[in-house]
Amino acid sequence: MARYTGPVCHLCRYLGEKLMLKGEKCSSPKCPLERRTTPSRGRFQARQRKVSDYGLRLREKQKVRFSYGVLERQFRKFFAEAEKTPGAAGEGLLILLERRLDNVVYRLGFADSRAQARQIIQHGHILVNGHKTDIPSFLIKSGDVIRWREASTKTEYYKALVEKVKGKVIPSWLSLDEEGMTGSASTLPSKDDIEAKFDGKAIVEYYSR
Ligand code: SF4
Repeated sequence: MARYTGPVCHLCRYLGEKLMLKGEKCSSPKCPLERRTTPSRGRFQARQRKVSDYGLRLREKQKVRFSYGVLERQFRKFFAEAEKTPGAAGEGLLILLERRLDNVVYRLGFADSRAQARQIIQHGHILVNGHKTDIPSFLIKSGDVIRWREASTKTEYYKALVEKVKGKVIPSWLSLDEEGMTGSASTLPSKDDIEAKFDGKAIVEYYSR
């Protein structure tokens, strides 16, 4: 599946905002945006001139797209799907993105970033309801159970992870059995589970232009 393979920190620089795409590095002084002593040169933030409404909507759309690691074509497909669901399309879009398997693996604490979660899934380490599921865009539904493949529990990564997930705060629509390293979706995500930094309405306005 096609994905962005360029340097992800450039995406944060482009928007002039921390998107937290590289796990632990993002919260450390190694983050290039932390090290920056002069104002960001983000295409939108640093320019002193007024940003147009179109620019602000584009920025919002890109922020969500980069955060979830979805290419434009697939993002549009998600948006078209969200438009068919009852309720606000912007909210529906964010809920669909939240249900992606790579996001769920990340939210459960099985990976430091969505990019790492995608890699774990594509390498066949994750089972959904007992079946190997190597498609990062697979949509989790209520009642689904997400766990590690037996053979994958022998890896050093997994052994370190068992300690790391302890006490991890996860969204209310998911639950995690830390002992069994098994996650489940008790329901579907709601608008309260969407990160406040995302503005779904602006994305709807962007695509309605
Ligand atoms: Fe963005 Fe994280 Fe890179 Fe910082 S370290 S620029 S937050 S991806």
